[in-house]
Amino acid sequence: MQSIGKRIYDGRTRRTSNLSVEQTCIGCGLCAKKCPVHAIEMQHKHLVWVKDRCVMCLGCLHRCPTFAIQCGPNTKRHGQYLHP
Ligand code: SF4
Ligand code: SF4
Repeated sequence: MQSIGKRIYDGRTRRTSNLSVEQTCIGCGLCAKKCPVHAIEMQHKHLVWVKDRCVMCLGCLHRCPTFAIQCGPNTKRHGQYLHP
């Protein structure tokens, strides 16, 4: 069985296709501005992942003012976290 670290950082887990955006997105562009690897672009006020993979920092998910970005089926339940 793979270690947790290996599973988290393997290529599949880092696919941006694991990320999704909900209708609550207000097109503010914060996620695109803050993505450390420029994997997000705003195109006509719509968020688009422009790279197949990213570093999966989840900064976009946690910083979004409307909690519109999700990663897989469980992040909605877990909520957001920002370091005080
Ligand atoms: S930070 Fe959230 S609301 Fe703003 S563009 Fe990104 S997904 Fe939409
Ligand atoms: S998880 Fe991090 S690296 Fe990936 S798209 Fe979001 S902000 Fe960018």
